[in-house]
Amino acid sequence: ATSEVKKFYNGPESFTPDNNFILGEAPELKNFYVGAGFNSMGIASAGGAGRALAEWIVNRAPTMDLWPVDIRRFATFNNNPRWLHDRVKETLGLHYAMPWPNRELDTARPFRRSPLYDRLAAKGACFGSKMGWERANWFAAPGEAAVTAYAFGRQNWHEAVKREMKAVREAAGLFDQTSFAKLLVQGRDAVSVLNRICAAEIDVEIGRSVYTGLLNERGGYESDLTVLRLAADRFLLITGSAQAVHDADWIGRNIPAGAHATLTDVTSAYAVLALMGPKSRDILVRLTSADISNEGFPFATNREIDIGYATAYANRMTYVGELGWELIVPTEFAVGVYEALQEAGRDAGLVDCGYYALEALRLEKGYRAWSRELTPDVTPYEAGLSFAVSLDKAGGFIGREALVAAKASGTPSKRIVQFTVDDPLPMLWGGELILRDGKPVGEARSAAYGHTLGRAVALGLVENA
Ligand SMILES: Cc1cc2nc3c(=O)[nH]c(=O)nc-3n(C[C@H](O)[C@H](O)[C@H](O)COP(=O)(O)OP(=O)(O)OC[C@H]3O[C@@H](n4cnc5c(N)ncnc54)[C@H](O)[C@@H]3O)c2cc1C
Repeated sequence: ATSEVKKFYNGPESFTPDNNFILGEAPELKNFYVGAGFNSMGIASAGGAGRALAEWIVNRAPTMDLWPVDIRRFATFNNNPRWLHDRVKETLGLHYAMPWPNRELDTARPFRRSPLYDRLAAKGACFGSKMGWERANWFAAPGEAAVTAYAFGRQNWHEAVKREMKAVREAAGLFDQTSFAKLLVQGRDAVSVLNRICAAEIDVEIGRSVYTGLLNERGGYESDLTVLRLAADRFLLITGSAQAVHDADWIGRNIPAGAHATLTDVTSAYAVLALMGPKSRDILVRLTSADISNEGFPFATNREIDIGYATAYANRMTYVGELGWELIVPTEFAVGVYEALQEAGRDAGLVDCGYYALEALRLEKGYRAWSRELTPDVTPYEAGLSFAVSLDKAGGFIGREALVAAKASGTPSKRIVQFTVDDPLPMLWGGELILRDGKPVGEARSAAYGHTLGRAVALGLVENA
C-alpha cells in the first residue's frame, strides 16, 4: 500500500495470433529459419527453443514433436495486417487469463467461411475456429443461445451434443467438414513418389481410398490422411484442417527433383459434407442415380456421382464409425447439396452436427487424430495402427527402416490406449495424468464425453516398459 513504482517499463514485444512462438524453416524459403514471436516468454523459453531450432537446422527437420510452435501451422492469409492487428490484442490480453479447456479466441472473426456458414448459423450453430475456418462446434436448440459457457465440468452444450451423437448412431447426421485440407498430387510419377511418402500401399485400383500415415525417418507420424485414387496419375489427399501447409511442405520436400509430380492445394475448390449414420444410404439414394448399395459402393472406395443437381465425389469413409459418405462437392454446389440433403433427410431424422459430437464419436470408436495421438514421436505400432502399414510393398517408404527395427526389438514400451471412466459424472478434457499402480505412466491426449457409452472416454499415451 505504501511502496511506489520506481521504474515503469513500456517495451514493445512480439505477440502471435495464437500466443505460441514461431519456430522452423519457412515453407516458402529454403534455409530461412525463424525463431520469433515469443509472447513475453522469450527468456523463459530461450534454452529449449534455441536448442530445438539448432537441431532443426542441423538435422533439416525437427527432432521431436514441435507442432504447437511449428511455423507451418500458419498460412499466408495469417499475414494479413488488419487481421493480425485485431487478433493479437486479444492474445496479449489472454496471457494470464483462465485457460478454459475448449477456449476459443473471439477477435478477428469470422475469418474463413464455408459456403454453408449462414445456413448453419441460422440453425443455431455455435462456431469455433480451426486454421481460421469457422466450424460449427454444436447446435443450439430453438430458443437456446448458441454461446458456449466455459467451465471445467459439463458445459452448456452437453445435451446438444448428446442429441447430435444419438442422431449419428441411430439415424443420420450431417457435418460440414469443408475445412478439411485437400491436396491434389498429379503426374506420371505421382504414384511412385506418393508410395514412398505414404506408409500404406497407395498403388491401388482407381476409385479406391486408402487411409495412411506419412512417416518421418524415425517412423513417427508427420501426418495421417486419406488418399483417393482418382486416376492412374491423379490422387486427392484429404487431410486435417490445420495441416494444409504442413503436409504440403512435407510432401513437397519429399518429391525428388526431376520427378514428374506436382502438388496443388485445392482446399478452396471443394466443400465437404459428411453424411453419417445408419440411415445415410436411405437419404442419399433419393438424390442420386448411382448404385450406392454395399456391392455397388463398398467401404474405402470413391466415385464421382450425381447428388441432386450437383456432380461430386463421394468417398465411403467414416470418422465416426457408422455407414456414411464424405461428399466432396465443388464449392459453388455446396449450398444446393446441403439443401437437397436436408430435404431428403427430413423424415429420416437427419440432424446438423458439429465438431464436439464428431470428436466424441471418433473417441468412442478409438479413432486416432494427428497432433493428438499421432505425433512425430509415435510410430504406427505404438499407435495400434499396423494395419495401415505395408511393410513389404515394392520400393519401401520413408520410415520403413525404423519400423523394421522397432518390430525386431519386440513389444513397444509406449502405446496409445483407450480409456473410459466408470463413474458417469466426470468430464475429461485431455491432458489428464494417467496413473498405473499409483505411479504416473502418461497422459490423456484427447478426451470427450461419450454419450453412447454414458461416460467420459479418452485416448491416452502410456509409457511403461
Ligand atoms: C518489458 C519486457 C518484459 C519481459 N519480461 C519477460 C519475462 O519476465 N520472462 C520472459 O521469458 N520473457 C520476458 N520478455 C520477453 C523476452 O524479453 C523476449 O521474448 C525475448 O527477449 C525475445 O528474444 P528474441 O531473441 O526473439 O528477440 P530480441 O531479444 O528482441 O532480439 C532481436 C535482436 O535483433 C536485433 N535486430 C533487429 N533488427 C535487426 C537488423 N535488421 N539487423 C541486425 N539485428 C537486428 C535487435 O537489436 C535485437 O538485439 C519481456 C519483454 C519485455 C519487453
